[in-house]
Amino acid sequence: MKSKTVLITGASRGIGAQTALLAAKEGWQVAVNYSTNSLAADAVVRQIRSAGGSAISIQADVGVEAEIKRMFAQIDAKWGRLDGLVNNAGVVDFAQRLDQFSAQRLERMMRINVIGSFLCAKEAVLRMSTRQGGEGGSIVNVGSAASRLGSPNQYIDYAASKGAVDVMTLGLAKEVASEGIRVNAVRPGIIDTEIHASGGQPDRARDLAPQMPMGRVGSSLEVAQAIVWLLSPLSSYCSGSLLDIAGAR
Ligand code: NAP
Repeated sequence: MKSKTVLITGASRGIGAQTALLAAKEGWQVAVNYSTNSLAADAVVRQIRSAGGSAISIQADVGVEAEIKRMFAQIDAKWGRLDGLVNNAGVVDFAQRLDQFSAQRLERMMRINVIGSFLCAKEAVLRMSTRQGGEGGSIVNVGSAASRLGSPNQYIDYAASKGAVDVMTLGLAKEVASEGIRVNAVRPGIIDTEIHASGGQPDRARDLAPQMPMGRVGSSLEVAQAIVWLLSPLSSYCSGSLLDIAGAR
C-alpha cells in the first residue's frame, strides 16, 4: 500500500513544524512548506528522515498564486498523489486599532491568511475529489480563537481573516462531502510560538499565561495532535467541525 501524502503550509516553525513531525511519525509523507526560513524547514525534513520518514521542503509564499501552483506541481512530481492538506501558514501584524490600519496591511493579511488558504484548498480539491478522479482526502484549516474573540486593540484584521477561514471550512465541507473530502478547522488559543515576536510582542504568551483559564498557554504539540487526528480516519465522521484548542478561553 502506498503511503499517504500531506502538504503542511508554514511547516518550518511553530504549529506547522510540530504537525509535520507528528504526521511523519504516523506514517504520512510530508511536504514541508515554508516562506523564507529554509534552514528551519530543512531541519524539520532532516528530523523526519533521520527517524525513517519521508519528507521534502518546498519554498512557496502562499500569498502568491503562481508559487502555490509550483508547490503543488512539485508534490505531483515527487509523490504523484495528495491525501491531506493543512492550511497552517498564517501571519499577524503589529498591535493596532482599526482606525490605524492601512490598506496595505489589510491586503497582506487577507492575501496570506485568506486567499492563500482558499487557493491551496482549491489545488487540493482538484487532486483529491473523487469527482476529479482523486481518492478523497482531508483538509485541516488552522483558524484561531480570534475569530470568536475579535482581537480588539490587537488585530481585528487577523481575527476577521480567521473568521473567513471558519466560513470557508463550513462551506467547503458541505461542497465536497460527497466527494470523499473532509474539511475541518482547529481554532487555537494562545500558543507559545514565534508568531508573537513577529507581531512585535515576543513575551505575549508568557505575559498572558496567568490570565488564561488553565493558568497557562498551549503548546504547538497540543495543536498538532488535534490536526493529525483530523487528518486521519480516526475522525472519519468529522467534517465542517471547528475544533477549539484554547484551554477553555
Ligand atoms: P509561526 O511560529 O510564526 O510560524 C509561521 C510559519 O508559517 C512558518 O513556518 C513560516 O515560514 C510560515 N509562513 C509565514 N508566512 C508564510 C507565507 N506567506 N507562505 C508560506 N509560509 C508562510 O506561527 P504559528 O504560531 O505556528 O502559527 C501557525 C498558524 O496557527 C497560523 O495560521 C496562526 O494564525 C495560527 N494560530 C497561532 C496561534 C498562536 O498563538 N501561536 C493562535 C491561533 C492561531 P518561515 O519559517 O519561512 O517564515
